[in-house]
Amino acid sequence: MKTIVLTFDDAVTSQLTNVAPVLKRYGFGATFFVCRFTDEWRAQHGEYLMGLDELRELQRQGFEIGNHTWNHPNMQQLSDEENAREVDSLSEWLKNGGITEAPVFAYPGGPYAENAAPLLRERGFLVARTTEKGAWDLRNCDPMRVPSTPVQGTDDALFLKAISYADNTRPAVIVFHGVPDIVHPWVHTPPECFSEWMKYLHDHDYRVIGMAQAAQE
Ligand SMILES: [Zn+2]
Repeated sequence: MKTIVLTFDDAVTSQLTNVAPVLKRYGFGATFFVCRFTDEWRAQHGEYLMGLDELRELQRQGFEIGNHTWNHPNMQQLSDEENAREVDSLSEWLKNGGITEAPVFAYPGGPYAENAAPLLRERGFLVARTTEKGAWDLRNCDPMRVPSTPVQGTDDALFLKAISYADNTRPAVIVFHGVPDIVHPWVHTPPECFSEWMKYLHDHDYRVIGMAQAAQE
């Protein structure tokens, strides 16, 4: 059986309203990689962003909440102290909000930040997700450099390509953003396409789980 690891980035409200119900319908697991963002950004886009109430609801429904930093910086350009603050403040925010952080991380923007990998290991994250495409070879790949494929838009071929990396021993990790995503149109996925793609996974007997579950198997 082939395994797909589903991840959803940036704490977009439509992930609770439109994504979670579809996942529940099929019994799929998933990881939501969240940021807190700045107060200014929150003030501007409050309705678009999930806060602690929404994240608690996702957790109550059985989904994993992972760390995507406080404010989505390019970690390659930050000092060790700045990166530690970005990671730790998000962890604290979740903890103070009554949310158990899954031991998984996603680099903001996607690229592997080699300078941050020792910190992430030290903080106990089991795996960290990049957007370097390919299958996830759990036994041989660097756990701080897990590949994944972003999917957005309406192109079935892009989705099929992303899941084609999965084989019988290696999962494929997929990244979605908002469904829909009104603030970042370039990573927007229409709810109709998303529902169809999830139905495809269900109809073709894929196993669909979150990243911490996959890392701990
Ligand atoms: Zn992101």
